[in-house]
Amino acid sequence: MLIDGTILPMNYINSPIEKITFNHQEIFVKRDDLLHKDFSGNKARKFYYFLKNDFDNITKVISHGSSQSNAMYSLSVLCKLRNWHFDYYVDHIAPFIKTNPVGNYKEALKNGMNIIEKKVPEDISKNIDENSLFIPEGGALEEASFGIKILADEIINWAEEAKIKALKVFLPSGTGTTALYLQKYLPFEVITCACVGDEEYLKKQFTILEKNNHPKILNLDKKYHFGKLYKEFYEIHKELKEQTNIEFDLLYDSKGWLCLNKHLKTCKSSILYIHQGGLLGNISMLQRYKYKYDKIA
Ligand SMILES: *Cc1c(COP(=O)(O)O)cnc(C)c1O
Repeated sequence: MLIDGTILPMNYINSPIEKITFNHQEIFVKRDDLLHKDFSGNKARKFYYFLKNDFDNITKVISHGSSQSNAMYSLSVLCKLRNWHFDYYVDHIAPFIKTNPVGNYKEALKNGMNIIEKKVPEDISKNIDENSLFIPEGGALEEASFGIKILADEIINWAEEAKIKALKVFLPSGTGTTALYLQKYLPFEVITCACVGDEEYLKKQFTILEKNNHPKILNLDKKYHFGKLYKEFYEIHKELKEQTNIEFDLLYDSKGWLCLNKHLKTCKSSILYIHQGGLLGNISMLQRYKYKYDKIA
């Protein structure tokens, strides 16, 4: 593909798989956080379709969500690569983020995102003109299956080469799009947990995209609210870093690893954990965690 007259230097696919030991359990990790410096994680997989295909009349992407979102940042990179305008609607931008931009918000602005502090108009998807692409919050759309199938194929090839027959694939969910399409394309069981809403919300999300063949959902006893701070989230994040030397995301992965620890400790199959990136979002989360639990201002 030609971008600004040059050949795209990287293909944004084929991430490595590593074996780690966490709390005495051996687990494989698919390092999608390493896909590319600027375009990584499951958002890179979900938006790969829009990177690779021709969209001759498209000049603008329109999306919406939170002002700290990983999807927002990845869309800003996509739009920069493709030379598209990017309009992003948010209900509200926290004042401290406006005065002190960090992480996803800061980098997305640098990439030229036009942020609009206004509820996304309800009829927007009907009123999109022929030059605009509408991407729903979190990239929950059918086109995401294009890049996630490539991810599934990478896993299938690896398992074949490593001669692994019994495999379970684990990843935490937001909209559930990644877990759902992985289950669609993988011959292995896909297991997940709900991080944004509850189990019912996640099942509904699955059903919107596919009627059946849904991933298995694991639960914890305690109820967690997305974006809130929990001591056990911070602790397992630090434990993971210490034991594996890998940084995981604080919004999804902390809950994911707590679930895995609770339910899959004695699992006989090999386990593959999908690292879905999101590390730019950790900057502001770590500031909040350090302030709350380490009393560092
Ligand atoms: C977006 C995101 C998720 C959730 O992905 P879904 O496809 O919406 O379930 C999980 N982890 C990270 C790090 C993310 O950025």
